Amino acid sequence: AHLDRIAAVDPAVHAFLHVDGERALAQAAAVDARITAGEQVGPLAGVPLALKDVLTYSGAPTTCGSKFLQGWVPPYDATVTKRLLDAGIVILGKTNMDEFAMGSSTENSAYGPTHNPWDLDRIPGGSGGGSSASLAAFEAPLAIGTDTGGSIRQPAAVTGTVGVKPTYGGTSRYGLVALASSLDQPGPCARTVLDAALLHEVIAGYDPYDSTSIDAPVPAVVEAARSGDVSGMKIGVVTEFSGEGYAPGVEQRFREAVGQLEKLGAEIVEVSCPSFTYAMPAYYLILPSEASSNLAKFDSMRYGMRVGDNGSASAEEVMAATREAGFGAEVKRRIMIGTYALSSGYYDAYYGQAQKVRTLIINDFNKAYEQVDVLVSPTTPTTAFKLGEKIDDPLAMYLNDLCTIPSNLAGNASASFPVGLAPEDGLPVGLQVIAPPLADDRLYRVGAALE
Ligand code: GLN
Repeated sequence: AHLDRIAAVDPAVHAFLHVDGERALAQAAAVDARITAGEQVGPLAGVPLALKDVLTYSGAPTTCGSKFLQGWVPPYDATVTKRLLDAGIVILGKTNMDEFAMGSSTENSAYGPTHNPWDLDRIPGGSGGGSSASLAAFEAPLAIGTDTGGSIRQPAAVTGTVGVKPTYGGTSRYGLVALASSLDQPGPCARTVLDAALLHEVIAGYDPYDSTSIDAPVPAVVEAARSGDVSGMKIGVVTEFSGEGYAPGVEQRFREAVGQLEKLGAEIVEVSCPSFTYAMPAYYLILPSEASSNLAKFDSMRYGMRVGDNGSASAEEVMAATREAGFGAEVKRRIMIGTYALSSGYYDAYYGQAQKVRTLIINDFNKAYEQVDVLVSPTTPTTAFKLGEKIDDPLAMYLNDLCTIPSNLAGNASASFPVGLAPEDGLPVGLQVIAPPLADDRLYRVGAALE
């Protein structure tokens, strides 16, 4: 049924870069056979899923939305992919994304944008717009995203779906093509809170293949999603994330949702986190710095594309010609910023300063958690904007991630849950919840209370 749905709507939505129906049906048949044989299978066995094209899946192309990796087929599964397959989850295909996960609209994909199923002229968010759109268009009931600065939560917000960024180190980055290694985190996307929790449980947990993986029990996310009990919970509303730049409908739905939590017995307090104002400039130094280093491996020798190799060109000439042809404008912009910020003489002034700001943000979170159990804010300042509206204005594009970035810099857990439609445009609004590291269960408790 999901393959039929993809055939019917994906020409207009373009959530998928690659669909392998035969392989999906074979996986589904294998689950059926296990059940027929009397085997006990997990709760998600046989459920179809859409996988963001930044995670490796052996035998299927992994492009990261880039021309550079067109046709590259990885020989191994990411840990997340392996855990999905071990749970009997059926992988429908790979979803569209901004090139190397840089963007907030999926317009930076080399393969053309994804369209928001709520209004095809609008963006589905980014970088994981393909994953969120596949859920909103009912092409898949589950999806995997990755979140470096908001790429799970912002797409979830603008498509009216659920997206969770687990605690950094809670899910494995092995087999995830790195954007910024100290920020990247794979996580579950779904249409309901419980679905997301069940998927979270499948993919989370210690992985010796990832040196930053946390060796601790997975938080009790499914139990929290089933409970939704927020009575007695202390919820902090981040003062800095409101006012100028926030759409009235976003503020209205956010305030109503907070009111609902209060009615359910939560204690609401205003919490000021002054350093959050500097999260965005710090992020746009740290991310490009790490990205410029991570993307150095795309050198025309080891992976993917190679152009200009005419027999007499030097290795450097081939490398330059290939990177010129293979990378899009946003990727080049960030490689240049990162290379500059890391160069000797500038390192202390830019990268060093940004790392200090990162510490201030962590301190703000720690102070907030002395008072409250979780923090909440709108996930994004506005609802889904029009395709093309911000593509020529990088700063306007970056502003979409204003509320989501602090959580990546601090490495704690965060999520976006749908809280209705903005009255002015009828488009989905998301509420962000942020919890301390390894308290991912609190996200689901709040999400389930709002559902
Ligand atoms: N939109 C943000 C950026 O462009 C977030 C990206 C992400 O989370 N992968 O960097």
